[in-house]
Amino acid sequence: MGEWTTVIGLEVHAEMETASKMFSRCPVVDSVEAAPNSAVDALSLGMPGTLPIINQQAMEYGIMVGLALNCEIPPINQFARKNYFYPDLPKGYQISQYDRPLAINGHITIELDGAPKRIRVRRAHMEEDTGKLTHSLAGSLVDYNRAGVPLLEIVSEPDLRSAAEAEAYARKLRSILRYLGVNSGDMSKGVLRFEANVSVMRADDTELRERTEIKNLNSIRNMVKAIDYEVARQIRLYRRGETVKPATLGWDEAAQAIQVQRYKERADEYRYFPEPDLPVVEVSRYWVAQIQSQLPALPDELNARFVNELGLSAYDAGVLTAEPAVARYFMDVVAAGIDAKLAANWLSSEIFRLMNAAEIARAAIQSIPLTAQRFAGLLTLLQAGAINQSTARKQVLPAMWSSGRDAQAIVNESGLAQVSDAEVIGDIVDKALIENDAMVARYLAGNDKVINALFGRIMGALRGKGDPAVVRRVLNEKLAELT
Ligand code: ADP
Ligand code: MG
Repeated sequence: MGEWTTVIGLEVHAEMETASKMFSRCPVVDSVEAAPNSAVDALSLGMPGTLPIINQQAMEYGIMVGLALNCEIPPINQFARKNYFYPDLPKGYQISQYDRPLAINGHITIELDGAPKRIRVRRAHMEEDTGKLTHSLAGSLVDYNRAGVPLLEIVSEPDLRSAAEAEAYARKLRSILRYLGVNSGDMSKGVLRFEANVSVMRADDTELRERTEIKNLNSIRNMVKAIDYEVARQIRLYRRGETVKPATLGWDEAAQAIQVQRYKERADEYRYFPEPDLPVVEVSRYWVAQIQSQLPALPDELNARFVNELGLSAYDAGVLTAEPAVARYFMDVVAAGIDAKLAANWLSSEIFRLMNAAEIARAAIQSIPLTAQRFAGLLTLLQAGAINQSTARKQVLPAMWSSGRDAQAIVNESGLAQVSDAEVIGDIVDKALIENDAMVARYLAGNDKVINALFGRIMGALRGKGDPAVVRRVLNEKLAELT
């Protein structure tokens, strides 16, 4: 495929997770858990005589996303009717935005093999989601719970040059939405949906070629597979001297293949016109500035901060910022005065291990029995030398996990405090040297490694609570006295 380059533009539909729908007070419910048609009202059902009202929170979320994607937020927004007939759209039109969208001219920076690349975001506009159709042999069913849920469509320029770049873009965008707290990113629930526009071009082409649009991509992994499949198909057609016809395609997961759904409508077939039931929305500069000032830190910014200010490796920073809840937990621990590297190590090894064993998703870290405060309490004892590493890991941590209690309480109660008193340790060492005289003899005969076994015996006698550094020092001193 050497002489062909892949060209991709992504259209992303992200539901804005507001309490109520875009144009009415009807509640928004979980698409998987709620009973079908349990969250509908006259407006969701497209009843004649109903009038929409704009959900301000949804607009604010949309502006947040626009700002996070480095977009301009034009001062005037206008809703428009996109007319088409489909059973999941009972009004016969979708309220969307056409030539006056919420956000324009932004970009997302993706990174592949360490090299940053800027992908332009053409626009982001607000619209309402449609209902959901389920087809079966017995007939088709429709659920209007989703009808009218605020939906932000984010459209990239055709700047992506491989499936890997499309994947990086999709992951970055998903992460930004999750950091903003406007979308859970749960593609299996359909709250975030990707559509890939795909074409191929040759090095000497002066303009882009015909594209196809792939819908029905229910995971990022499937998106990558579908793009690869479609690129190969288009190249095959051109090689045979045929053309690529603009079409809407669907990824058929079972067949792992692309199916043509329909040949594409053009914009003018939707008969867009300004929505007469809604006023234009004036987005004041004051409102935008206010939203801007409340934007949370985004993954790139946190990543840079973790590396530059906290001294973490790029790898550790990546692990901690992959999930906003984890990043927040980590920052809470550091804010409690814990060394960043210590916190990062313990979090990504010990806490993740306990969470994996309990099958708790990273996103749910805020609900584990070990709150950030308690975890910081444990690490404080460790930093201060009040307990040693192995006591902390093997005894205090599991006890905290199962009881949800503070480290200090567990240490006091179970007598787990670290023994660092050199005199106390000295007595134990003396005793150990007498009890293990054969080992001592071997050490004196030149076998240095025996010292580790002696160290183990002494720590055992201290029930693991000895301060390892003090034990080593005292042991070395006592052995030196014998030579
Ligand atoms: P519309 O859907 O209104 O027709 P466009 O055709 O301008 O809008 O773009 C829709 C999406 O398709 C955008 O994400 C854009 O980047 C992408 N796109 C446009 N042309 C191509 C192309 N030749 N190859 C791949 N993607 C394209
Ligand atoms: Mg489109």
